[in-house]
Amino acid sequence: MLMTTRIPAMMLVIFSSPFFPSYLRKMKNVIKKYTNGEVTVVWNSGLCIHSANCFRGLPEVFDPRKHPWIKMDGADTEKIAKQVNKCPSGALSFYMNSENPESK
Ligand code: SF4
Repeated sequence: MLMTTRIPAMMLVIFSSPFFPSYLRKMKNVIKKYTNGEVTVVWNSGLCIHSANCFRGLPEVFDPRKHPWIKMDGADTEKIAKQVNKCPSGALSFYMNSENPESK
């Protein structure tokens, strides 16, 4: 019984990880948003090229072994934005909540 309840959660973690093969993920392009109330990070799975820059650069926030894989309380807004800007594919982007009318 325990196995049946854990399998869907494990599949979600694996499927939404930036290290999951892109050709499989593109079957279902996932766009997810994560916020700390000040900044919102947007991850577009279809653009991710699995460079692991995010994980290597700021593992306190970006950890594909966890769910959710982006933990917004792992660093301050400035550090998160700086790391997001290093994403080579554009899979990661961010906007400041104060500048986006939809987030108000
Ligand atoms: S840095 Fe960007 S392209 Fe590289 S794994 Fe992270 S999200 Fe994907």
